[in-house]
Amino acid sequence: DKFVYSFGGGSADGNGSMKNLLGGKGANLAEMARIGLPVPPGFTITTEVCTYYYDHDCTYPSQLDAQIKEGVAKMEQILGRKFGDTEAMPLLVAVRSGARESMPGMMDTILNLGLNEKSVEAMVKATGNPRFAWDCYRRFVQMYGDVVLGVQKNPDEDHEPFEAAIAAIKEERYGSADVEDTKLSADDLKELVSRFKKLVLERTGHEFPECPWEQLQGAIGAVFGSWNNDRAIVYRQKYGIPSEWGTAVNVQAMVFGNTGEESGSGVAFTRNPASGENEFYGEFLMNAQGEDVVAGVRTPAPVAALHDVMPAAFNELMRIREVLENHFHDMQDFEFTIQDRTVYMLQTRNGKRTGVAAFRIACEMVEQGLIDWKTAVRRIPADQVDQLLTPIFDREAIKQAKMLTRGLPAGPGAATGRIYLNAERCVEAADNGEKVLLVRLETSPEDLRGMIAAEGILTARGGVSSHAALVARQMGKVCVCGADEVIVDYNNRTVTVGGMTFNEGDYMSIDGTSGLVYAGKVETSPSEIIQVLISKTMKPEDSRTYQNFAKLMQWCDDCSKMKVRTNADSPKQTEAALAFGATGIGLCRTEHMFFEGDRIDFVREMILSTKKSDRVAAVSKLLPYQKGDFKGIFKALKGLPGTIRLLDPPLHEFLPQTKEQQLDLAQKIGMPVEVIMRRVAELHEFNPMLGHRGCRLGIAYPEITEMQARAIFEAAVEVSQEEGFAVVPEIMVPLVAFKKELDIQKAIIDKVAQQVFEEKGTKVDYLVGTMIEIPRAAVTADEIAETAQFFSFGTNDLTQTGLGMSRDDSGSFLPQYQELEIIKKNVFASIDQEGVGKLMKIAVELGRSTRPDIKLGICGEHGGDPASVKFCNTLGLTYVSCSPYRVPTARLAAAQAAL
Ligand code: ADP
Ligand code: MG
Ligand code: MG
Repeated sequence: DKFVYSFGGGSADGNGSMKNLLGGKGANLAEMARIGLPVPPGFTITTEVCTYYYDHDCTYPSQLDAQIKEGVAKMEQILGRKFGDTEAMPLLVAVRSGARESMPGMMDTILNLGLNEKSVEAMVKATGNPRFAWDCYRRFVQMYGDVVLGVQKNPDEDHEPFEAAIAAIKEERYGSADVEDTKLSADDLKELVSRFKKLVLERTGHEFPECPWEQLQGAIGAVFGSWNNDRAIVYRQKYGIPSEWGTAVNVQAMVFGNTGEESGSGVAFTRNPASGENEFYGEFLMNAQGEDVVAGVRTPAPVAALHDVMPAAFNELMRIREVLENHFHDMQDFEFTIQDRTVYMLQTRNGKRTGVAAFRIACEMVEQGLIDWKTAVRRIPADQVDQLLTPIFDREAIKQAKMLTRGLPAGPGAATGRIYLNAERCVEAADNGEKVLLVRLETSPEDLRGMIAAEGILTARGGVSSHAALVARQMGKVCVCGADEVIVDYNNRTVTVGGMTFNEGDYMSIDGTSGLVYAGKVETSPSEIIQVLISKTMKPEDSRTYQNFAKLMQWCDDCSKMKVRTNADSPKQTEAALAFGATGIGLCRTEHMFFEGDRIDFVREMILSTKKSDRVAAVSKLLPYQKGDFKGIFKALKGLPGTIRLLDPPLHEFLPQTKEQQLDLAQKIGMPVEVIMRRVAELHEFNPMLGHRGCRLGIAYPEITEMQARAIFEAAVEVSQEEGFAVVPEIMVPLVAFKKELDIQKAIIDKVAQQVFEEKGTKVDYLVGTMIEIPRAAVTADEIAETAQFFSFGTNDLTQTGLGMSRDDSGSFLPQYQELEIIKKNVFASIDQEGVGKLMKIAVELGRSTRPDIKLGICGEHGGDPASVKFCNTLGLTYVSCSPYRVPTARLAAAQAAL
């Protein structure tokens, strides 16, 4: 079996398509070597070895050792150097992790491996540069000590022990711990190596390994081991990466960015990953190695500055930029090192980008002929297109706001919120409903939870490829990083900037598009697309973004099989949704209208009535309001279909619960307060979600169904007469479990329809259907479909009833279920395809067996979740329905599902 794939010297065993086996990094190193880019030689140990390792008690396949030796021999041959050479310049290697999908900051890399007391001397001799050689050795011992040998900060220590040793020597020899690392001499570094090794011995009880092969084995084991560290696990959970995938290990010859002022390391993007603009973008550090750039210790210079410092290297990078885009047909995020003016490529991958950038890059690449429109549709993450709709600061408000400083724009959009300085307090405040900003010196994977909870992230240190920036872009969070004038005081929990001090809980505002930081709360205003489509404060021809958006949505319609409707309860919501391309209403919740104005009092009167005649009287007072609501909605729909659900929630939800409110109501409707109290008590339910709700209300109180049906038909007839377009109401009966329930309700609806049509002397077409939201309905869908002309899957309740899991109470145990991978995703956000999805599938098949042309839709929250939309497409649903601002997401998801 082949476990080791070599690359370098213009060829490779593997290629870019082998990401499952070689990991993303390994596959692309092979691909770059194949197309002649300057890649230092090396080899990749496959992900199969990782799987084997965990399946076999942390041991390796027996052939692995020999294959590794062979891989090293190939590198030695290409470079003319020997691993562990103590005479001439030794071959040093980097040991790098690399999963299928990149997991920023999760796995650890070890550089300069192969050095020991003897080979470092050989390196000194060969390079004539003792400072450089000892700097490499110092870095190696530190990284290896930390990552492989586990020498880390104890809980009672303030600093990492190695960092403390560096600070100590700076203090001793230069009088301050703040001098730059570059100040340290060869002798200082040599001394550090010896102190580091002493530290290793003290902390681990073992000598630091001198044998290069032992070092290599340890490093490879550490990479495989890191696949299951806490950070990696948290990251996998967030992004749904299965633990079975495993990571590959890349062993690669070192190139050195730390030989002096003609060397350096950098990270670059072929286009701007925040805005999507077609410009060379990135940063580099002179005389630096490894992760100095990403770590945010020194603030790097923009790559454009290389143009003046090292024009030849800059031009080479510009050439590589073009080669990469032409070859990979996508924006690339790449790592390079310049060693004595020669550029080496260490990594490339499809760059992470904001939703805004993904959208712009895809549209512009179609224009450039780099990709076709279908690729563009596939490539824009559906759940991120709503970033195009995210607010920007209100133009007037921002003029008034006090600008404090400028950082780097790392995640676009405007965010305002109360500041918190650590993840825990950030999460706590967000749980209490506050809008929060996370402010840190720099972020690390420990801060992930806080970043998820925050509206935006502000850091004082680090560049556009720092951890904060990477993660923010991926999560679509507003982010400003490297705002170095911001003083973050963790102890006093204050942030000082621009002569002002802010305490935790104070408001600040950040603009991740410009990098500007403001004092206080700044009002935000809608995006260009919103301005064109909704507020009409911008003309379509003035917005490139809008034009691209329109083009993308057209492409989506050209390939989608499903339609996208919206969940809307008011004309305004309806208009917004239609502007985003909704093709009708999939769910209009009539009860939402009951809370408007003082009509709630009539609702209460209706509920509190103990006699049918009283109830009929109260209900008829509601009729004109409901009719008005429906007319508004039908007008906004302009002839598009609208599904209206009859009253659904348990009645007590409408009743006053406190004594005070009850007294107040008694006065208003002239009913003794004792009667009200008694009725409230009667209506109390132990488990209202499974209680007297849905069609059970219409069965008990047919006059409610009658009133709602009348309001719908009168509105439909009148609007079609007044407006001249056909109105075809789709009346939906909720919570049906038995065909008979639907029969009873449909009989009422049909009777009222006849009455209204006779009174008005004209008729409209209409449909009567049901929600499928109870397992019994799903498994008897063939019977129900004899009556129902359409089904709409109410997946919120179907999940709740199908799993026997209250959606309001699941917060206390669902997170643990996700952690233990009992469930893959939150079942209330993304359909549980194997369970609830199977119920849906059964219902679809049974429904079609008795009514082949039955109309099928979904109207739960899941209708705006891309994975669920995809699932609905495989079921062959007619439409999905989601909230108005999710419509573009659902349209894109529907298109992607169909491609
Ligand atoms: P990550 O997955 O965290 O990006 P990498 O394996 O890419 O980790 O390594 C981190 C950094 O180490 C790289 O950005 C690069 O600067 C440095 N590095 C990796 N391999 C080499 C190498 N062969 N020579 C010099 N530097 C390297
Ligand atoms: Mg790393
Ligand atoms: Mg990297």
